[in-house]
Amino acid sequence: MKAARYHSPGGPEALKLEGAPDPEPGPGEALIRVLACGVNRIDVWARSGRYKTPLPHILGADIAGEVVSIGLGTKEVEPGARVLVYPVLTDGTCVYCRLGKPNLCLARGFVGIATDGGYAELVKVPATNLLPLGDLEPKAAAALPVNFGTAWNGLVTKANVGEGDTVLVWGAAGGLGHAAVQVAKHLGARVIAAVGDEKKRQFVESLGADAVVDSRSHDFVERVRSLTDGFGASVVFDHVGGDTWPTSFDCLARGGRMLTLGLTSGAKSEVDVRKVYQEELKLMGVYGQSKEDIRSVMELTSAGRLKPFIYRELPLRAAKEAHEIVESREVQGKILLTP
Ligand SMILES: [Zn+2]
Repeated sequence: MKAARYHSPGGPEALKLEGAPDPEPGPGEALIRVLACGVNRIDVWARSGRYKTPLPHILGADIAGEVVSIGLGTKEVEPGARVLVYPVLTDGTCVYCRLGKPNLCLARGFVGIATDGGYAELVKVPATNLLPLGDLEPKAAAALPVNFGTAWNGLVTKANVGEGDTVLVWGAAGGLGHAAVQVAKHLGARVIAAVGDEKKRQFVESLGADAVVDSRSHDFVERVRSLTDGFGASVVFDHVGGDTWPTSFDCLARGGRMLTLGLTSGAKSEVDVRKVYQEELKLMGVYGQSKEDIRSVMELTSAGRLKPFIYRELPLRAAKEAHEIVESREVQGKILLTP
């Protein structure tokens, strides 16, 4: 099969389209013909060496495709089924799996990081990780798991956002951000979108953001406060990390929920402990998503209530360009690779 893979970590040019052995599904696994695969920031980190992967390696966690064949004893799917891959790999047996928290599994890994992923014509995955596509377009589906599934985990499963909430979303035009804006609006919340340039302002307004604040403005906190009658946002959706944490806490209303979903800036930050307890702030870590989170966003996408925005659709041989676009931060919504 053809695959875009790298033999050692490096820049985007490390990704080369080449022939790779066809994967063979083992017991309990299914072989999928990839119809579309989403590109995520975690892919860029793995390719650049921040996350260790086997070598040579094929990236790609957001996979929609069709089952080609199944391994011995696989009962969950039949060849021909159109499926979306749940990207979290688990042992299914540890205490967290038994508690229904697979994303906290002691043996957790991700498709496309721990194992070869979807930057290829074919990929094998455990059949228990497959969700039927139903009437969902493969391209729309491939934009869902990592971005919309994680946004759902944060805003619904963790923060229980609803009408009456004001949600501040950092990086609102990107893959995760544009998902968060849409999910928060769907839940009836008011959304303040933080973006870094004018082009992105129009994009997030088109997604339904109620107010847009330039994330580079020196009076960012005051602007957020003035948009909330001085109270601040009841929920902050922060996937930037150390650089934005102090500002995020400053933007929170009393009793507010701070969702932290990853970092593209530093991993360390100073927090005013007094503010956290005196204002009863809640810090909520959000890591990945459950299969149930993904089912929810699949249903809403099928119904036209969520609309993943495909910024660029590129062939496998352009995986290098796809990574360059992600690194340039110009991306709005999602980039897909289609074999
Ligand atoms: Zn487990």
